[in-house]
Amino acid sequence: MRKVSVLLMLCVLATAGCMTLEGQPIQINILSTQQEVELGNQLSTEIEKQEKISTDAALQAYVSEIGARLGTVATRQDVQYSFTVIDNPDTVNAFALPGGHMYLYTGLLKVCENEAELAGVMAHEIAHVSAHHHGEAMTKQYGYELLTQLLLGEQPSTLAKIASGVFGQGMMSYYSRDNEREADALAMEFLYRAGYRPDGMVSFMQKLIAEEQRAGGGHPLPIFSSHPPTQERLARLQGLLQKYPEIERQQISLNEERYREKVLKRLK
Ligand SMILES: [Zn+2]
Repeated sequence: MRKVSVLLMLCVLATAGCMTLEGQPIQINILSTQQEVELGNQLSTEIEKQEKISTDAALQAYVSEIGARLGTVATRQDVQYSFTVIDNPDTVNAFALPGGHMYLYTGLLKVCENEAELAGVMAHEIAHVSAHHHGEAMTKQYGYELLTQLLLGEQPSTLAKIASGVFGQGMMSYYSRDNEREADALAMEFLYRAGYRPDGMVSFMQKLIAEEQRAGGGHPLPIFSSHPPTQERLARLQGLLQKYPEIERQQISLNEERYREKVLKRLK
């Protein structure tokens, strides 16, 4: 099975490096879905060795229910989206692995004040997977050769390093500026289609900026350690929100009470 994956990858590589007539490089996703899932499974095993997974089954179920609702409306349907809660109240972060495994830290759950805000973060992570950002980001960072070795299981220590250094708490500028913009726009659409109030993304971003300023501003939260700058992202989200009629938005509940019951009370 692994040999087949590598062969598939090499076939795709043969088409890499193409340019459009305008001289723009064509965005090539060099990981097939099967390879992406395989890499994601390996990274997920590493992450779950390194992090403390929450044992609160009700909390996991709640998060999974929101994830399923959002996953159904995502533009990519050839992967399974799953969310796992990491028990770490000091880390305000969430991340997606290639192939659809996603993680949320309890520190992030505590910062959210309603379900729409949490769903907004989750939709953003789903959007990265949905828009195939991992194939692009991983190729850029590690190159074809290393990715091939990782897929063959030839570099277990590098895989462990990637798990802790790139994802989890160390995520630094993994996605491009365009990736982040696209993920924000897609996320807002997924939220809306899934029946969540898209305003949650804006209020969450405002909260994170306040949190970041409280922490001194010089050390961005892991979820922020990417460009574009957060103020710019906030302004963009506010612009995107205007696509959705305000009267309609106001009729959708933010599910504040439900969030308090299902999450905040449990994390005290
Ligand atoms: Zn992102």
